[in-house]
Amino acid sequence: MVRKIVLFVFVCSVCMLSSCVSKETKVAGGVPYGDHKIEPKENSIPDARFPADTTWKSEYLLEIKGESPFLAKESVISMQKWRDEIIEFSKTQEKVFINGPNNKQVALTFDDGPDSTVTSAVIGVLDQYGVKGNFFFVGSEAEKHPEVVKEAYEKGHLVLSHSYHHVQLDKLGETEIQNEIEQAGDVLESIIGKKPAFLRTPYGSTNELVADVAKEKKYSIILWSIDSLDWAQKSPDVIYSNVISNIRNGDIILMHTDSDEYDTYEILPRVIEELKKKGFEIVDLETMLGISPNQ
Ligand SMILES: [Zn+2]
Repeated sequence: MVRKIVLFVFVCSVCMLSSCVSKETKVAGGVPYGDHKIEPKENSIPDARFPADTTWKSEYLLEIKGESPFLAKESVISMQKWRDEIIEFSKTQEKVFINGPNNKQVALTFDDGPDSTVTSAVIGVLDQYGVKGNFFFVGSEAEKHPEVVKEAYEKGHLVLSHSYHHVQLDKLGETEIQNEIEQAGDVLESIIGKKPAFLRTPYGSTNELVADVAKEKKYSIILWSIDSLDWAQKSPDVIYSNVISNIRNGDIILMHTDSDEYDTYEILPRVIEELKKKGFEIVDLETMLGISPNQ
């Protein structure tokens, strides 16, 4: 059901195929962030690459990559439109992230779980490679599979919010948006004892009201700079090439772990091996962004 809506809402572009754009977009004259500073984590090891604040955001903004031969033309156009708009929107929002800083680090993110099979299988692969993942769980699904949420958390992966009902938040009023965010946060907190501070809006649907409510609820909105398009096809090779042929410093990679995503699980070892071979450190979003993932 989720997939059908996504196919309709946005999909990538012929424009991408003709590559009318450069590999990355530098934002000239970025938005001033005032004196906002992110404090380093307690006991964190000093690391020159570890960003002390988010001022890098105004200087390093990636284009969103990933395409699929399986998408209808209208979907491709619609998705490109969303990509262009969200990039512009993120420039005006201190707490909306498309990608991380310009370090040789990337983050693997997994939406739409937990489920009874794929999420645990993906956790198993990540553990096997000693890699931390970022799971944006749907609140209503977390209620059905709390043991999987717990497993992700206990194995050291980030347990994050993907709203409660997986609905387009930008179609809702303020109170409904608050409820979606609060309910999901409460469910995850009841399972792992911590409330998340990172939200991925379903379908990436984000507007000013959504961003304002998220901020008020102490969430950063984390989107993505590479869409593996695993939701749009049953082709491990396309998932692989979307990631590997587009990979750049600071990429946040979108994948899924609902019960349909066996292909994601199947291709994940090759993706991890190749990223490592290319010299990328695969990190969690806390490490990448220098922001605490919990409240
Ligand atoms: Zn989703």
